[in-house]
Amino acid sequence: MTRLASLNDIPPGLVEILDYIRRHGPCTRAALGEAIGLSRAVITQRLAALGGYGLIAEDGVGPSTGGRAPRRLRFCADAGYLLVADLGATSIDVAVADLAGEILAHRAEPADIAAGPDVVLTRVEALFEEALLQAEPPGAVWGIGIGVPGPVEFDTARPNSPPIMPGWDDYQMRGRFAPYGVPVWIDNDVNVMALGELTAGIGRGRENFVFVKIGTGIGAGIIVRGQIHRGAQGCAGDIGHIQIAADREVICRCGNVNCLEALAGGAALARDGEAAALEGRSPFLRTLLAEKGSLDAADVARGAAHGDAASLELIANAGRLVGQAVAAIVNFFNPSLIVIGGGVAGAGDTLLATIRQTVYHRSLPLSTRDLGVHRSVLGDRAGVVGAATMVANELFAPEFLPRWLDAGSPVAAEG
Ligand SMILES: [Zn+2]
Repeated sequence: MTRLASLNDIPPGLVEILDYIRRHGPCTRAALGEAIGLSRAVITQRLAALGGYGLIAEDGVGPSTGGRAPRRLRFCADAGYLLVADLGATSIDVAVADLAGEILAHRAEPADIAAGPDVVLTRVEALFEEALLQAEPPGAVWGIGIGVPGPVEFDTARPNSPPIMPGWDDYQMRGRFAPYGVPVWIDNDVNVMALGELTAGIGRGRENFVFVKIGTGIGAGIIVRGQIHRGAQGCAGDIGHIQIAADREVICRCGNVNCLEALAGGAALARDGEAAALEGRSPFLRTLLAEKGSLDAADVARGAAHGDAASLELIANAGRLVGQAVAAIVNFFNPSLIVIGGGVAGAGDTLLATIRQTVYHRSLPLSTRDLGVHRSVLGDRAGVVGAATMVANELFAPEFLPRWLDAGSPVAAEG
């Protein structure tokens, strides 16, 4: 078989048909023709080719419109499998997924990203092995995808001066995972989470939405027309360092004053919670601080859940500040949905309620008419589901598909 060299060698419509079935689920030839605008004969030819590659198969029958019920076609999500990881500031989540982002096995453990790539990635590799043993995928691994808590140069898969990841700057992630013999993609964790919500979460079927992660820091993943928007250098959505009006001055870890995350991120909540405990404004947090020696954002959330007034005020204040930034995004970008995720997003209903209230109050009426502000439904799985989506999107992208399609799998092409 001749090796396809470039997109020019792929028959017109093949990538689009595969993409459509992959994103929309099983559909009939008629629906495909209508969506893509190719003749029935061409569609039949392309489907036969995709069937030959093992990527598309028949999947029962669709609704009849009078005559014989039409056969439906589905994407073969089990043609290959993916190893994915979501690295947080303090945790590692690893999974084996199929090509549709369905998780077959999931492993998680606490970790310190600041321990550096050697320590953290050695654990990732061990967890990959454990997850593979549990999942026993019936096919080969086709790719690796990892989300990291910092800026990434997407094309070269290298972290770029990540503030909370000492030792990771310019680290050669592809070189590290080269022994697996499969293609590797890395992206910022928030972008990956946004893709997860788009594939299997609350963003399903939404063309334009923003995922806001409130963890130790704050960031946003932007979905435009069903695709992640990375921007010119890959750092679009870094809303944690937008300056916010506040009645005090706080220096951010980036060196600027009153960045959103310095006022309202998880680390800021922990800091302000400790201050409330030490200054005697919160009996609840004072007791907790005496027991634990330090506080985190989850402790402040616990205080709010117990009705502790100081904790409630800290959470509500964080919600108002995040809401200010989100309102600016809503006015600028007009999304149909804001998804709030990350470790602090689970901090009770007060946070979400104040974000929502501020966004509706501060945005233009037309932009909020159909705007939903909701919590992530995937929670701590958003990252691994999204990392799988990222890898599948790249494997089947028009720029990459010709490199391996005739070889039968990306593994053969890499080898
Ligand atoms: Zn900053």
